Amino acid sequence: MCAKTYIEPQTTIPVYDECDVLVVGGGAAGHSAAVAAARAGCKNVILMERYGYCGGDVTGGYVLLIPSLSFHEKTYVRGLQEEWYTRLSKIPGAVVGPPMELAGETDPAMIAKYGGVCGVARSNPPRIEHEFMLEPNQMKIEMDVMLDELKDSIRVMYHSWGCKPIMENNVCKGVIFESKEGRKAVLAKVVIDATGDADLCRLSGAPTSSAIDDECRCSSTALVYRIAGFSRAAYGAWSRTHREEAMALGQKIGEIHGFRAGLIGGPTDDVSWMNNWQPKHDCSKIADQTDTEMQTRLKIRQVVETYREMCPEVFKDAYLYDIAPQLGTRGSHRIVGEYVIDSNDWAFPKEFDDTIAWHCTVDTLNDNAPIEIPYRAILPQKVDNLLAPGRHISADKIAIDNVNLIPQCVGTGQAAGVAAAVAVKDGTTTHTVNVATIQDILAGEQDVPLPRNKHTDISYTENLKEHEYGLYTEAAKKARETHDAAGSYRHWTLSGGAGNANNK
Ligand SMILES: Cc1cc2nc3c(=O)[nH]c(=O)nc-3n(C[C@H](O)[C@H](O)[C@H](O)COP(=O)(O)OP(=O)(O)OC[C@H]3O[C@@H](n4cnc5c(N)ncnc54)[C@H](O)[C@@H]3O)c2cc1C
Repeated sequence: MCAKTYIEPQTTIPVYDECDVLVVGGGAAGHSAAVAAARAGCKNVILMERYGYCGGDVTGGYVLLIPSLSFHEKTYVRGLQEEWYTRLSKIPGAVVGPPMELAGETDPAMIAKYGGVCGVARSNPPRIEHEFMLEPNQMKIEMDVMLDELKDSIRVMYHSWGCKPIMENNVCKGVIFESKEGRKAVLAKVVIDATGDADLCRLSGAPTSSAIDDECRCSSTALVYRIAGFSRAAYGAWSRTHREEAMALGQKIGEIHGFRAGLIGGPTDDVSWMNNWQPKHDCSKIADQTDTEMQTRLKIRQVVETYREMCPEVFKDAYLYDIAPQLGTRGSHRIVGEYVIDSNDWAFPKEFDDTIAWHCTVDTLNDNAPIEIPYRAILPQKVDNLLAPGRHISADKIAIDNVNLIPQCVGTGQAAGVAAAVAVKDGTTTHTVNVATIQDILAGEQDVPLPRNKHTDISYTENLKEHEYGLYTEAAKKARETHDAAGSYRHWTLSGGAGNANNK
């Protein structure tokens, strides 16, 4: 970067709007926050998003899989996340995966039906897990439908880039944003930073982590693209009968790109996703963003040609279907909240008074059993009336890889929206808000099971106890032995390794 500086003159900017709850960022977390705040009774919500659609990584980044919503026969991750599934199930080709009624099923016919797609836990014996894949453009539309249903309470501002929190001492009072209309402000009683990169928290005086850790999953970006003109099932069959050729093909694709890249199936047989992991790339840096975009696009034609050449039986008519409209990222900056999640939170079952979500961590260490996520993990230190749900949740560099997947972003977003609505209604702050009220609304009205809450059936807790919090299964024991042998918990590796979450 150039060493010169320029002093920007002080200026007066117009206030574009005022609201009770301002959500900045309309990804899985932000969209859920806005919807949940409105449903919790807040009539004056603004959702500000830099692009022209909601969903963030999920829709714009072409992320596919909503993993691990159940543990044995109980579905712990419900609320808005389950609503995505029920809404998309009514639209042809929009979603695939076993419904929650099948969770825990070990019938071999069911395992065979879902095994090739998604929805089978790596347990012994294998069992059905409620999870699903979605079609990103249908989700994009559905997210607008959900906002439109709440248009009396939520005003949507697309193409508006939140760039600076308005702070009075340590209290957040709104956000300055840029758009084609220039630089303006929105004033708010509570601001929810759902930018994924802690954009607002970083400028608020709240502590955040230093940038990305270069060895973890969260240090990777991606530009996902889709290939069509071949049958995914046919490719699977070919791979099983031509193992060496399939491995050579996969290796060649990685060599062309210069990073890990893998073709995965989606909701329909005729379109497949090229997921990829571009290591040591920070989505909050211009150079890394540019590199992610260009280095992927410059290689796509060669990749498609290679599939055609090395496996003409399957790929002879294959073609580039489309490229995700935005680069994806698995993480960058994150907040250092009033509570920092670490691996011990699922190595030993922990209970919190302020639990706002009960989520599986997609980790073999505990057989994907749900863990409790406390409100304090979305509550930044040192500042008030600012919340931070989503992939920048407060967690250490190992835990973050397991607690910022889509379900946790939706779940913490939903909780943040309810928390903001309660704080506004009661005239409290994000630090003094009545957490018991938040929990009662989530568990009572918004279909979010929570431990030790009167609205949640005791069978959820009993299920966990019966299966010993997933800690003593053969798979979990093996995973722990591996980690013990390595001297630490498994760290994400960009080349693959243990745990099905390595494909996220
Ligand atoms: C390639 C890839 C594969 C993945 N695979 C999986 C998977 O299989 N399963 C899974 O569960 N997770 C997966 N993940 C992770 C998961 O997608 C994300 O962690 C999750 O979607 C993040 O949601 P979020 O709302 O916190 O953030 P984001 O989705 O990043 O949303 C942030 C939103 O805020 C907007 N925004 C950002 N800054 C500003 C600003 N300053 N002003 C206004 N708007 C702003 C963005 O445009 C975006 O809409 C994957 C991620 C990637 C990149």
